[in-house]
Amino acid sequence: MTTEEKFDAIVVGAGPAGSACAYVLAREGKSVLLIERGASSGSKNVTGGRIYTYALEMVEPGLYERAPLQRKVVREQMMLLGRNGAATLDYVDYDFGEGVPQSYTILRAPFDEWFASEAEGQGALVATGILVDGLIEENGKIVGIKAGEDEMYADIVIAADGVNSFIAQKAGLFGDISAKTVSVGIKEIIELPENIIETRFNLRGNEGAARLAIGCTAGISGGAFLYTNKESISLGIVFNPEQAGKSGKRIHQILQDFKMHPAILTLIEGGTTVEYGAHLVPEVGLTGVPQKLYRDGLIVVGDAAGFVINTGTIIRGIDLAIVSGLAAANAVLKASEPSQIGRLYMQELQNLLLLPTMKVFAGWHNILGIPRMVKEYPDLVNEAMNFMFTVDGKVPEKMPKAMLSIIKKHVSFFQLVTDGWTGLRSI
Ligand SMILES: Cc1cc2nc3c(=O)[nH]c(=O)nc-3n(C[C@H](O)[C@H](O)[C@H](O)COP(=O)(O)OP(=O)(O)OC[C@H]3O[C@@H](n4cnc5c(N)ncnc54)[C@H](O)[C@@H]3O)c2cc1C
Repeated sequence: MTTEEKFDAIVVGAGPAGSACAYVLAREGKSVLLIERGASSGSKNVTGGRIYTYALEMVEPGLYERAPLQRKVVREQMMLLGRNGAATLDYVDYDFGEGVPQSYTILRAPFDEWFASEAEGQGALVATGILVDGLIEENGKIVGIKAGEDEMYADIVIAADGVNSFIAQKAGLFGDISAKTVSVGIKEIIELPENIIETRFNLRGNEGAARLAIGCTAGISGGAFLYTNKESISLGIVFNPEQAGKSGKRIHQILQDFKMHPAILTLIEGGTTVEYGAHLVPEVGLTGVPQKLYRDGLIVVGDAAGFVINTGTIIRGIDLAIVSGLAAANAVLKASEPSQIGRLYMQELQNLLLLPTMKVFAGWHNILGIPRMVKEYPDLVNEAMNFMFTVDGKVPEKMPKAMLSIIKKHVSFFQLVTDGWTGLRSI
C-alpha cells in the first residue's frame, strides 16, 4: 500500500460488521480497503460465543455453510444460581437444528479471520496490524483516514471499530462512553474432550448448548454464560462496571467463584483454560444508539453504533453487526452521489429490520437493571425449590404459607409489585 491512495470505501475494523460490509462492496465491484489493528482479524475480539446464521444468509445465501462454526445450538438453558444449588430451565428443540434460521456456537478468532479472508476473496484489500489513529477532513467532510504517517482517501469511511468507537468520537458524532451504557465481559475458553462435553450437556454429535445464568455476580447487575464448542467451553461473566467499581469486589474472584460453584464445576471440571480475554459490550439496546450515525463522508456500524440486544435470554450483537454492515454496503451501492449515503444507510437499517427489531426490545434492559434480579430472585427460586424437594420425615408447612414466608424473606410486597410493574412496562 502506498500513501495517499484513494478507494471507494475504507472500512475501519475487521469484526463481523466490517467484514460483512467489505464483502458486499467488493463483491459488487467497489474498491475497498478493510483495515484491522490486530495482527490478524479476530485477534483482538472477545465474544460469548454464538451467531444467528440468518445474518450471514442475508449477506449471501449459503455463506454460513463455509464459515468455521462450532456446534448447532439445540439446547437453550437458563440457570438461576443459589448459594449451593441451581434451578435450570433446559429447553431442547430439535427443530432448531434444521435449515436456516439457526444458531451456532463460534470461536471469534477463526471466525473473524475467515470472514475477512472471504472479503479478501471478493476483492477487498485487507490490511492487518494497522491502527487507524485519525481522520482526514476537508470542507466539513470526512475524506479519508490516517494511520501513523500514512494517509488514505475514500468517498466513504465506515466506522466498524467496535464499542467505544474512536472513529465516531473523532468524527464528533458522539462523546466518551458512559459506564451506564456498557457492560464488561470477561471470558475463558476451557478445553475438554468432545465426548465429555456431549455427556455433560446431554448433546449428540454436532449439537450444542447455550446457557445463560444469573445469581452469580455477587449482587452486581450482570450474568454469566456457557457455550459448548466442539472441543471447548466458552465461559464468562458480564457485569455493570459502575456497580462493580463501587462494590470494591474483585472481578477475577467473582469469575473464580462462578467456576467453583458446584453446579458449574461439574460442567468444566478437568478442563484446561487456553484463552482469557475481556471486552466491553453495549448494554442498553436502542436507548444506547446515538441520535446520529452518520455525517458527510462517514457512517457508523455494529457495536460502534450500539447495535446489541440483550434480553437476558438471548444476546445478539454479531448478527446485528453483520446486518448493519450489509445496510452500509447497500447504502453505498444505492447512492448516486456520496452525500446521499448517510440518509440511505438509515433507510437500509429500517428495510433490513434492524431498527424495528431493536425497537421491540428497547425497554428490556430495564428488567436486567432491577437490582433484585441478580440476587434476591435467584435465591428465592432456589429456596422455593429446596422446600418443594425436601423430604425429611417432618410435617411440612402447607405450600401457600411456606411460599409466602420464602417470598417475604427475600423481597417486600412493595418491591414485588414495583418489579413486576417495571417488567411489564419494559416488555
Ligand atoms: C463477553 C461478550 C459476550 C458476547 N456474546 C455474544 C454472543 O454470544 N452473541 C452475539 O451475537 N454477540 C455477543 N456479544 C457481542 C458481540 O461480540 C459484538 O456485538 C460484535 O462483536 C460486534 O461486532 P463489530 O464488528 O461491530 O465489532 P468488533 O467485533 O468489536 O470488531 C471491531 C474491530 O475493529 C478493530 N479496531 C478497533 N479500533 C480500530 C482502529 N482504530 N484501527 C483499526 N482497527 C480497529 C478491532 O480490533 C476489531 O477487530 C458479546 C460480547 C461480549 C464482550
